[in-house]
Amino acid sequence: MSAMEIEREVNRSQMQVSDKVAIEIKDMNKWYGSFHVLRDVNLTVYEGERIVIAGPSGSGKSTLIRCINRLEEHQSGQIVVDGTELSSDLKNVDKVRSEVGMVFQHFNLFPHLTILENCTLAPIWVRKIPRKEAEETAMHFLEKVKIPEQANKYPGQLSGGQQQRVAIARSLCMKPRIMLFDEPTSALDPEMIKEVLDTMIELAEEGMTMLVVTHEMGFAQQVANRVIFMDAGQIVEQNEPTEFFNNPQSERTKLFLSQIL
Ligand code: ADP
Ligand code: MG
Repeated sequence: MSAMEIEREVNRSQMQVSDKVAIEIKDMNKWYGSFHVLRDVNLTVYEGERIVIAGPSGSGKSTLIRCINRLEEHQSGQIVVDGTELSSDLKNVDKVRSEVGMVFQHFNLFPHLTILENCTLAPIWVRKIPRKEAEETAMHFLEKVKIPEQANKYPGQLSGGQQQRVAIARSLCMKPRIMLFDEPTSALDPEMIKEVLDTMIELAEEGMTMLVVTHEMGFAQQVANRVIFMDAGQIVEQNEPTEFFNNPQSERTKLFLSQIL
């Protein structure tokens, strides 16, 4: 497993954590049928935090972040996102989806739409933003992820790293306050990982609240203010990165780190 070198100087002074709560998860449990996948999860995320979630495959990392934007439903406990409790009320789901962007391992772009159309689809049809304005916003974010010249191509004509940067730009077009990333670089060739991590570092430097499931421990060390270790559906341990990597507390964390570092 690579601990990708981040050559870029990370500007930590911009990355302030506020005392305002962005996400509050209390005693949350989730089952898939009879399988108890998330167990008594408690987590408070403050605005401006960059949290890396690590842990072995199958530990529930994806399920946890999918619960936060209601791609999955929890069965007990509470999830409150930016003051809105996730419940069966669909209005709340809409509100939360509009505030929380998500980037997946497999970019999930629409293959039959151009890059620009991928970025304007939801703003036009969900947010009812006029097409011209949506296109201007899309170009702004495509410039930000450094691929404005690809706007009229189709996803299949782009490299994996470029497609993932489009996926990030597409999320940003909805002006989210929180971004969730589920192994955003796991499907990429090594030479493309850096360009995606660089984009994520820029977002962090701009103060975006980010939850990132990743095996890129270099990113965790340099960008995260907190690393959470999950195993078997539980948050086993969490700490600021230096302590987390140099002084892991639980045996499960030690074993995990010995396998990936
Ligand atoms: P991670 O992202 O840490 O690898 P996941 O959240 O994807 O873990 O999965 C946690 C556990 O839940 C795994 O045992 C997985 O097989 C199981 N699981 C994931 N999605 C489903 C589903 N839709 N239905 C049933 N079991 C699932
Ligand atoms: Mg996963």
